[in-house]
Amino acid sequence: MKNPFIILFAALVVLFPVFSPEFWITLANYIGLYSIVAVGLVLLTGVAGLTSFGQAAFVGIGAYTTAYLTTKYGLNPWLTLLIGIALTAVAAYVLGAVTMRLSGHYLPLGTIAWCLSLFYLFGNLEFLGKYDGINGIEPISLFGTLLNSGREMYYLIWFALIVVLVASRNLLNSRPGRAIRALKGGGVMAEAMGINTASTKIMVFVYAAVAAAISGWLYAHLQGTVNPSPFSLNAGVEYLFMVVVGGSGFIWGAILGSALLTVMKDQLQGVLPALFGGTGNYEMIVFGILLVALLQWAPDGLWPFVRRWFPKQGGVIAPARATLLSRRDKPKTGTTILEVREVYKRFGGLIAINNLFFSVRAGEIMGLIGPNGAGKSTMFNLVTGVLPVTSGEILFCGQSIGNLASRDIAKLGIARTFQHVRLLPTMTVLENVAIGGHLRGRAGVGRSLVCANRDDEAALLHEAARQLERVGLKDCMYEEAGSLALGQQRILEIARALCCDPVLLLLDEPAAGLRYKEKLALAELLKKLQAEGMTILIVEHDMDFVMNLTDRLVVMEFGIKIAEGLPVEIQQNPAVLEAYLGGADA
Ligand code: ADP
Ligand code: MG
Repeated sequence: MKNPFIILFAALVVLFPVFSPEFWITLANYIGLYSIVAVGLVLLTGVAGLTSFGQAAFVGIGAYTTAYLTTKYGLNPWLTLLIGIALTAVAAYVLGAVTMRLSGHYLPLGTIAWCLSLFYLFGNLEFLGKYDGINGIEPISLFGTLLNSGREMYYLIWFALIVVLVASRNLLNSRPGRAIRALKGGGVMAEAMGINTASTKIMVFVYAAVAAAISGWLYAHLQGTVNPSPFSLNAGVEYLFMVVVGGSGFIWGAILGSALLTVMKDQLQGVLPALFGGTGNYEMIVFGILLVALLQWAPDGLWPFVRRWFPKQGGVIAPARATLLSRRDKPKTGTTILEVREVYKRFGGLIAINNLFFSVRAGEIMGLIGPNGAGKSTMFNLVTGVLPVTSGEILFCGQSIGNLASRDIAKLGIARTFQHVRLLPTMTVLENVAIGGHLRGRAGVGRSLVCANRDDEAALLHEAARQLERVGLKDCMYEEAGSLALGQQRILEIARALCCDPVLLLLDEPAAGLRYKEKLALAELLKKLQAEGMTILIVEHDMDFVMNLTDRLVVMEFGIKIAEGLPVEIQQNPAVLEAYLGGADA
């Protein structure tokens, strides 16, 4: 609570009704209601990257549930709130299970489709009053007082908003929250860290829907009446506008966007028809133009500009002490842990991996080299389950993993880095690394929302900090990952992989982009990891680096293994010199 911005905000919320006329209270109530939906949408669209045009439909489910059950059966609104949340969660779970699998443009189209369907459902069901809706909804009673004016509802609405805000912030700064944020980095990285991306998407979708339902419940009791029009696709688009204008990546942006659009809409609805004559939704035209302009000049929305006026917020800190996470037993040095047997991988007509076989023993550093396009990264993708093998078998510690999902392979103890760095540039280095610890933490959404995940969180962040120290990146722990030099970003990926507590570490060109001294430091680091019992399979281009580092090498060309042996043998192997080193020596 040291942040002056929060204190200012809290004071404004509490004191606002004291000096405001009725009309402002009404506006503030709508801003609050919209913000609750928008905060959920920030998590879904801004943070997780899942665009939804359909949030208004969930507001509708929350509103109609309470409207129907309180008027028809006289149920207590607090009970219907719970029922509305439960119904919305079930509906969102079902819709999410179907739509969240869609990618690209299909996802927004899917959300448009069900928003339209639910709108027409509300409008056509006899028992929901068709397009006339339901009237005579009783006000909510709180501690024996009926909240039957806008002024009285104000505090409940803004209290609900603050609860949703705090819960969302808690969620984002937690283990499941980092999983949500990791979605934006593409599913491949998240899955490689053991995150179930499909269920994480559904989880954030349900969360955003429940926030919308709470807003709908408040709306129904504020208005005393519901009909389908505020839950139409139009409204769904407006919610998205608010989030984009405010700044889709920021929780506070949701409030800013809702406030701006609500106030502007109100003003424009007065001014524009007077200017242009007649009636019509002229404000939507202005919004459209403004949005296009905004996306040009401030694609991250307006919140970043506002934020500059306030001191920078701390962000998550690694505790100096915490319980250490348990570590898995490492296999005995020398035992075969990875076995690749007659593996083929086809991409259409291209055979990227052609009858490849090799094995890796515990405790060694094994190099996989070969010219560009030889199939090295593809091999990594097969071992880590990013791609299924076409035929053949890959065994890890005796278990066949050739067709396992990435996250299941991660569970068994294989961690990797990527040739093209995959990290979350706006997250701190520490939080990026903590994603690697996903499988070693326990706290789920429930505990994270109410901050009952402190021990789990401390242990994860402490572990992340330890791994950063191990790789020598401790000093930039609190910097944004995107601000690091490429070489350091690669080291960050190693720390993230180490955070998985792997048995086998796969490094895809970790020295690319490093300066000479940094390469020496990296080689030293990998030797140190080896001494601590780590097994490493490394793809690398720099010959000096590989020759001095590795115990054994496999050389590939066009998907075929052309040689295998000690570095000194490989250096003199005529086939290798011909295929790979020949060009470099000439
Ligand atoms: P390396 O890492 O050794 O440079 P890659 O494994 O990236 O090589 O690529 C091997 C070959 O497989 C290349 O010809 C590449 O174009 C092809 N390839 C790799 N991934 C895919 C994919 N997902 N779809 C189609 N072709 C691919
Ligand atoms: Mg490659």
